[in-house]
Amino acid sequence: MRVQSNDNVLITKGRDRGKQGRVSRVLPKQDTVVVEGINVVTRHQKPTGTFRQGGMIQKEMPIPVGNVALICAHCNKPTRIGYRRLADGTKARACQKCEEVIE
Ligand SMILES: [Zn+2]
Repeated sequence: MRVQSNDNVLITKGRDRGKQGRVSRVLPKQDTVVVEGINVVTRHQKPTGTFRQGGMIQKEMPIPVGNVALICAHCNKPTRIGYRRLADGTKARACQKCEEVIE
């Protein structure tokens, strides 16, 4: 997965297109990510053991990773992610616009 937790991403497709948010969870098997404040659905929760109160809960649903673009912390633009080999031989993610390594 090219997108990781805590990345800032721009939503490029779907209902929340144009919004930005922080990735809170990555689900590599489903190729989806959960982004804070994005794709929020309201669930009607019946009172159960864990949710004694019941009522409405807001929940962020995963969105396809193809619907987000990483926002580079260096040039502040949505970018594609490339890979660069560092001097010590490790691979790092890099912005394809400004070529800075992304943490
Ligand atoms: Zn950049």
